Amino acid sequence: MSAPLLSVVVPAYNEEAGIEETHRRLTAALSGMGVDYEIIYVDDGSRDRTADIIQSLRVNDGHARLLGLSRNHGHQIAVTAGLDAAGGDAVVIIDADLQDPPEVIPEMYERFREGYDVVYGRRSGREGDSAFKRLTAFMFYRALNALTDAEIPPDTGDFRLVSRRAADAVREMPEHDRYLRGMFAWIGFRQTAVEFRRGKRFAGETHYPLRKMLKLAASGVISFSVKPLGAIAALGLVMAGAGLAWLAVLLVLALAGRRGLGINTLAAMMIECAGLVLAALGVVGGYVGRIYREAQNRPLYRLARREGFDDR
Ligand code: UDP
Ligand code: MG
Repeated sequence: MSAPLLSVVVPAYNEEAGIEETHRRLTAALSGMGVDYEIIYVDDGSRDRTADIIQSLRVNDGHARLLGLSRNHGHQIAVTAGLDAAGGDAVVIIDADLQDPPEVIPEMYERFREGYDVVYGRRSGREGDSAFKRLTAFMFYRALNALTDAEIPPDTGDFRLVSRRAADAVREMPEHDRYLRGMFAWIGFRQTAVEFRRGKRFAGETHYPLRKMLKLAASGVISFSVKPLGAIAALGLVMAGAGLAWLAVLLVLALAGRRGLGINTLAAMMIECAGLVLAALGVVGGYVGRIYREAQNRPLYRLARREGFDDR
């Protein structure tokens, strides 16, 4: 039997300043593990010399591979392309900027050997990130868990090791709006965490400004939850109920001759109408949510075992 193969997927966008050091550190970490390995660099339409540098790394090192996307497609798509190309029995996803330390990979691989399918890196510290990023990340992961059905572990990014079957399971999810850490949580199987300290960027600048972070956060919620649609319906029902009750009170008072139908009645009717419209939107949302789920076209379930069927 040949030695197991470990694939490492490294998305890179304008990383010319750091990619050589990344390759050096990755090689140092991987070469001592006693497994065969390949490092798949995915050049996500970089506008600098990233692709050229990877190409020269490749000439000197048979472990290195280069995938070049035709334009910048974004981090999640770049990783997806790498997953599609990875041939390993296990696949590591790691950023190109050394914020995810390659030295953690052997420990992740140990967990994989113990039988885990997804070994995600959990940040025990965020040296490189601003207080603002830390706070928003903290709030986001907690809000996300409240909103979604898949248990997406807090304080984890995309740095992780996944088994062949976990990688294939996510590859069978054809949705365009990809929130990979959610998708890996969604597939199930045995999952565990390895702690690491998230360091500073080795070189260059973040490609995740607030705008992209918000977009990713929205993907996380919308891809894994139709609960916001339910919230609209609930709000509408509450408003319609309150408006109706208020109208009833005003009507009773008017009939009893205690006061006329004043401006309050108008206000109550407006709340009533707005509530009805929101409730109706919630109903439409119920259908939209189902259409959305069908359009995502995810497999209904994954099997972790199948035994005793052979003698049929
Ligand atoms: N990246 C990418 N395409 C993009 C943006 C980023 O492939 O459009 C890569 C980038 O080169 C890095 C990883 O995704 O390897 C994470 O990006 P970055 O470090 O900028 O994000 P941060 O760590 O600040 O969240
Ligand atoms: Mg980074």
